[in-house]
Amino acid sequence: MPTTEYVFNPRTTDVLIKQPLGAKLPVVDHAKGVYIHAKDGRDYLDGSGGAMTVSIGHGVREVLDAMRAQAERVCFTYRSHFTSDAAEALAQALVDLAPEGLTHAFFVNSGSEATELALRTAQQYWRDRGRPGKTHVLGRAISYHGMTMGALSMSGHDARRADYGNLLHTFAVAPPPYPYRFPLSGADAEGHGAMVWDRILREYGADKVAAIIVEPVVGAAGGALAPPVGYLRALREICDRHDVLLISDEVITGMGRTGTWFACAQDGIAPDMIATGKGMTSGYTPMGAVLFHERIIQAFGDNGKTVPFGHTFSANPLSAATCLAVVNYMRDHKVLDNVAPRAAQLEAGLRRLAARLPWMADVRGRGLLWGFEFVTDPEKKTPPDPALNANVRFTAHCMRAGLIVYTAGIAPLNNATLIAPPLVITEMEMDDLLARLEKGLLSFGAEMG
Ligand code: PLP
Repeated sequence: MPTTEYVFNPRTTDVLIKQPLGAKLPVVDHAKGVYIHAKDGRDYLDGSGGAMTVSIGHGVREVLDAMRAQAERVCFTYRSHFTSDAAEALAQALVDLAPEGLTHAFFVNSGSEATELALRTAQQYWRDRGRPGKTHVLGRAISYHGMTMGALSMSGHDARRADYGNLLHTFAVAPPPYPYRFPLSGADAEGHGAMVWDRILREYGADKVAAIIVEPVVGAAGGALAPPVGYLRALREICDRHDVLLISDEVITGMGRTGTWFACAQDGIAPDMIATGKGMTSGYTPMGAVLFHERIIQAFGDNGKTVPFGHTFSANPLSAATCLAVVNYMRDHKVLDNVAPRAAQLEAGLRRLAARLPWMADVRGRGLLWGFEFVTDPEKKTPPDPALNANVRFTAHCMRAGLIVYTAGIAPLNNATLIAPPLVITEMEMDDLLARLEKGLLSFGAEMG
């Protein structure tokens, strides 16, 4: 049976990664477009944009020039002392791209901080409205909203929660949008699976609930679990009926990943808050944002309050200018127009592979965010023995084939892999991705027998 070891790099003491036996991390040298070049001379196709982050590719000249130009003017001022042209323009650009009604942006430094801020804001909103008992923020099983304590409290990610015991809140969770393993029936199945929320709110007591948070397509925890369009629309109606705010966690799905600027737009709804991050940075700088609906801002105003949060580096001019350059690049180069054709090519390629390899199951996703999982018995949908760490092991096979994929999913049931290349990937590069993936799958299959 394959075994695992911990690889500890004493020079960068933060790198402690559970890898299949013998796997060592390559040392990066440089990156351009969708390819990353390591010091050992090998190239890797960035098939997951790192952690579903790289949207416009690596080494884009316009972004590098904007970073330099901003750095030469001013890198840092504190958010309570100054605003900047870059932060103002980025806020405007984001609300212009968001569904109508989302009118304000607040900047943080990561996706976790964005969902954490959304949690606090939801609680403050109800406190200020004279309903201080509404403090819980409910999410779904098999979900991930970030690593800080509030964000993790809202996450249905057992593996990442495991070590924090009573430091985390245990809010109620709804079933994941995962028909392959959790089919819903009867009334719960209505509204594309969203009606289950109506029952949960009635049984749990909406008077305790400040907000519901969902990823439009579940990413890191589930491997591209994509409820049909219509789910968020039904959920919006349920939230309104029960006086509960709706937070769309678009840290992955935001900024074009699923084909529209924000995934919630496909359902024609405006959430009360959108948390976003990864794609708007394309990895050029750490940054995240919460977009607020006008009604939330109104509540602040009525009570003479402001956003209940802030960090030293919130809205720092250098990160703001960098993200602004990313967003401008996406608009100027019509990057979103590339998503549908490349998504169709990727989906067809994945389905072709799955048709040949019966242990590659449940190809699913939306836009350029696709996943699949492994089973040992396709009829019974038996997941591999968790001790095998199948998806981690598969990642190593892909690395050997020159392809970066993202290990997603929560064992034992869900042993998923995410494919989420930069949105600018060309047709030829997608063919290359699929060829490398095939190589990784075949050598993985040979090892697993
Ligand atoms: N929300 C979602 C949906 C995510 O996928 C992630 C990270 O994977 C986060 C929040 C947390 O973002 P970050 O890692 O930037 O803190």
